[in-house]
Amino acid sequence: MASGADMIGFAPVERFDAGPEKTHPRYYMPKARSAIVVGIGYTKAICDVWGTYEEEGRLPTPYMMFGFAQLNWELSRIALKIAKVLETFGFRSLPIPPSYALSRYRYWEDLDKTKKYMGDLSIKHAALAAGLGTFGWNNLILTPSFGARQRLIAIVTEAQLEPGELIFPEKLCKPESCGYACVKACPINALNKSKAQEFVMDGCTFRYSVLDHNLCRWCLDGLKKGSGSRTHIELPEKITQDDIHKAHAKRALVDKGLYAMGFIDFCGKCMHQCPSPDFEITTYPNSK
Ligand code: SF4
Ligand code: SF4
Repeated sequence: MASGADMIGFAPVERFDAGPEKTHPRYYMPKARSAIVVGIGYTKAICDVWGTYEEEGRLPTPYMMFGFAQLNWELSRIALKIAKVLETFGFRSLPIPPSYALSRYRYWEDLDKTKKYMGDLSIKHAALAAGLGTFGWNNLILTPSFGARQRLIAIVTEAQLEPGELIFPEKLCKPESCGYACVKACPINALNKSKAQEFVMDGCTFRYSVLDHNLCRWCLDGLKKGSGSRTHIELPEKITQDDIHKAHAKRALVDKGLYAMGFIDFCGKCMHQCPSPDFEITTYPNSK
């Protein structure tokens, strides 16, 4: 695609009806008809070499830039362009920024109670609804072309567009082949092999691992050894937002430098080590 996108799909807003009210496209735009989802994939080598600077031949930064930060900017540019074109045809269209910190922005005051980070609109659920991919056990969208290795963005629009077909997990998530590689890879046990959460879309039930959002945040923010950073801060007994922000202040100077340059997030091992879609299983050399 000339825009730089690798995939695009269209979801009818009715597919969001069983989800939380405040993440429904019509919560923002009562006349919305569709969510458009755009994705850009990144290369396998970025995942192959991911690791800390303590490991020979490993680098966390290609993922941080080309698997995360830069892709979010690229997708934002494409989303605004699509929204502008649709408005020239008379369809109000709202690009939704990629989540990262925004997943904490709206619900900030409640996070210590809910312990759950939610975006303004779940772009992963939108990608499922658009037929671009399906949920993996790792809580990520797996697509037929890139497995877990892509970033996504959504545009809510009044235009009615041809919906994609839902994809079911069996083809793309195969725990019996990979041995729950995502759960094993997680440096902080935020994922669980035997406890699932589920939700319903279009009458179909999807299941994937429960996720401890605060534990995962600790690693995404590079606060633990094994998350890709040089920082290691002991986990508090119960993580609060205050703990996370105090821990940020204690980050190793070089990690602070990466953040200042926009190299975010750190962890992502459940993404890097997921062998979908081709299930070429390779032994991953990194330790927790
Ligand atoms: S991003 Fe890291 S900490 Fe979070 S679930 Fe994946 S492997 Fe675990
Ligand atoms: S690592 Fe295995 S179990 Fe986990 S999401 Fe990928 S295919 Fe599914």
